Amino acid sequence: MMDVFFMERDPYAPIRHCYPVEKVLYHGKSQYQEITVFESSHFGRVLVLDGVAQCDEKYEFIYHEFMAHVPLYAHPNPETVLIIGGGDGGVLREVLKHPEVKRAVLVDIDKEVIEVSKQFLPTMACAFDDPRAIILNEDGYKYIQDYENEFDVIIVDSTDPVGFAHVLTTEEFFRYVYRALKDDGIYVGQTESIYYHIEMVRRIQKALRKVFPIVDLYTAVIPGYAGYWWTISVGSKKHQVREPSREVNVQTKLYSEEMHKYAFLPKGFYEKILSDDYKF
Ligand code: SAM
Repeated sequence: MMDVFFMERDPYAPIRHCYPVEKVLYHGKSQYQEITVFESSHFGRVLVLDGVAQCDEKYEFIYHEFMAHVPLYAHPNPETVLIIGGGDGGVLREVLKHPEVKRAVLVDIDKEVIEVSKQFLPTMACAFDDPRAIILNEDGYKYIQDYENEFDVIIVDSTDPVGFAHVLTTEEFFRYVYRALKDDGIYVGQTESIYYHIEMVRRIQKALRKVFPIVDLYTAVIPGYAGYWWTISVGSKKHQVREPSREVNVQTKLYSEEMHKYAFLPKGFYEKILSDDYKF
């Protein structure tokens, strides 16, 4: 039998992951992007957008748990949550594990990512029918401009900051995020590889520092993402985010009170890598 591989077309990373493919389950083009789902022996099903792997069944829990539980546990009472992007449903699934959450709005620009995920990635896309979930298909950049003092937590789980996702990492966007958050609200967003995209991490962190009084950076090691050591940026209006503010009691595979604390970079190292002079 011939071996078949899928090689990523990541426009950013200086390396391309190559996955063995057992079966292509879906391949199509939406109004916004090319969508593929394939089965791979080690990873299970893999979702690919515009040639870049977004998540796989085996390791998705790492990214989704850390994107959701760090801000939700840093906040003392997260009742209203906005997720921008996240069409695979993994962050929504984790957010809705918190009984405190009364309403979770998910705004993904691309309806087809949600439909394909519901059909082919049911372990991720399992919370769309929760009565607390509101699912909208709009550009998150436009959506957020209509809100003020509305959300406790805003999570931006978008594709790489190219094309229609780029605006979600600009200072203008962070000003809208700040306004849409309540007085003690917390923002988090995925901000790429600490190694391969350090200039981008710096740009985003600098923009956040112009807007939020408390800015921080935590990381998670994600086997499917280029460079593995992935960053998540935080902007907070009031709460420190380095420790949970409540007892951690949701069911997780990796996230815990201890892992929350260890996810944050030591402060000295964090400041050092933000300097333009620092080279890995
Ligand atoms: N965990 C993934 C990663 O970082 O590799 C991201 C997964 S999630 C599928 C990314 C979603 O962001 C996509 O479904 C895409 O449609 C959505 N997205 C990108 N730009 C957006 C925007 N401006 N507004 C709303 N959703 C957006």
